[in-house]
Amino acid sequence: MSQQDGAPDHASGLYVGGLYVSGLYVNPAGQRRAAFKEACAGLFGQLRVADSAQQAAAYLAREPAGLLVLDLERFELGLDLAALGELVAARGGAPVFVLCPFTNARWLPSLMAFGPIDYAIGPLDAPALRAVLAERLARGFARPAEPTPCETGLHALLALRTASQRALEESDDSLRFAERLCEALAGWPGVVHAAMFHLRDGDLHLEAEQGATRLQLAPLLLRGDKLLHSPLRHAFPGLLAAASGEFTLLDALDKAGEPELAASLRGHGVEMVVGLPIPAQGPGAPRGSLCLLFGQARMFSQAELDAFGDLARLAAFGLRMAEMARENEALVGRVTHLATTDALTHVANRRHGEALLEQEIKRARRYRLPLALIGFDIDRFSNINDTYGHPVGDIALRTVADTAKALLRSSDVLVRSGGEEFLVIAPHTSAIDGLKMAEKLRAAIGQAEIPGCDHLTVSLGVAQLGESESGDSLAVRVNAALARAKRAGRNCVELAMQ
Ligand code: GH3
Ligand code: MG
Ligand code: MG
Repeated sequence: MSQQDGAPDHASGLYVGGLYVSGLYVNPAGQRRAAFKEACAGLFGQLRVADSAQQAAAYLAREPAGLLVLDLERFELGLDLAALGELVAARGGAPVFVLCPFTNARWLPSLMAFGPIDYAIGPLDAPALRAVLAERLARGFARPAEPTPCETGLHALLALRTASQRALEESDDSLRFAERLCEALAGWPGVVHAAMFHLRDGDLHLEAEQGATRLQLAPLLLRGDKLLHSPLRHAFPGLLAAASGEFTLLDALDKAGEPELAASLRGHGVEMVVGLPIPAQGPGAPRGSLCLLFGQARMFSQAELDAFGDLARLAAFGLRMAEMARENEALVGRVTHLATTDALTHVANRRHGEALLEQEIKRARRYRLPLALIGFDIDRFSNINDTYGHPVGDIALRTVADTAKALLRSSDVLVRSGGEEFLVIAPHTSAIDGLKMAEKLRAAIGQAEIPGCDHLTVSLGVAQLGESESGDSLAVRVNAALARAKRAGRNCVELAMQ
């Protein structure tokens, strides 16, 4: 029960800032309650302790307390938020002081939604705890204890949001987006450096960083990728947030228990680090994290904490968009491959072959270069199927295609034009060179080993594109030459008539 100056009603009452203060400390762990009593009982006129939100509510109903201290260590956000939130709401604006572990700062905006709170980030040793509470009590009971952002602060937040949205609109790949977002974050008052960590390919990578200082996080964290394996993953808020999915607020670098890391950061003018998990869609690990490094430790208002949440969601959206763009590209590539490739032999299918022939004809005309077309057909292929079965026939078709492909230049195109019929589009190739190429194909296919059956042969027709000839006419001449080769007894090459 608090009481105005000059009206002490408790022999052991202590006057802080002219007030007699009674306190109620809430934590489920008996050891922590005992430690708190030992460290801080002297600051209060009267100190009660409760082991749960329910017990605290019962105590408060019996006798109000000047200051309610919620120590969140050992509480679970998912389980206890509603009950603790009710306690905050029931205070009706009377002071609530929250001791929040640095690895779980998500409590702060959640509790602030129930009513005003002051907070200190843990872990705090006994003297530090005593000091922050003494400071809080010295401020007395007048509000506001919460740092309300001034107009310039709100402008800065709005500017940050606009810059972040622009980064999203103007970047089409994740790397560019990460850089632009870090640029925007590093422009926020108080932030000296900003970074994005991205979980992809099964591990965490430093995707981008920006800042006014010469700070580089990769050497400081001992690596720039595979960061889930960094020895500092439990200490550095950017890594911790990405690994645990928790909002992490390190307002005094030494609290992380890594003196070397703290010294390096301090050497670059950093005093406070915030790690914001970038949420993934649905359950599971986060997509990464945003990391803000501040030049000075300070408290955050609810508007600022909310802005952190918005930023993390925006980052998630940006990364998802970039991922979708990548997935789309891969899908278009896959669909194009399926639409243009023969499934059995993996060479160009007939439709794609026709389009490619038209293209090459245009090119040959423009540059006045020769173009040859070779058609070949497997001899007596029905016998192979009849004798060895269709599956062996399929293997034979694949072997023929592979053998032909291995002989051709990269500029030549092999097309499966029908069942056991193929075409070779050969740019920069005259009739004579086409004949030589056809002869090589005939010899190589004739010698190819085909698993499960005998050697086979092919008959071939060759034609060179005439000056104003169409693709259809060229194909007709090649087929006529091929038919002549069949009539001539097969396993031979015929040159088409003009
Ligand atoms: P020719 O020397 O006159 O070309 O005789 P051929 O038996 O090769 O000619 P025909 O056109 O009579 O037979 C072609 C055979 O090719 C018939 C068909 O079953 C077979 N064939 C076509 N496509 C495939 C396929 O994808 N797999 C298999 N195993 N056989 C195929
Ligand atoms: Mg045929
Ligand atoms: Mg045939």
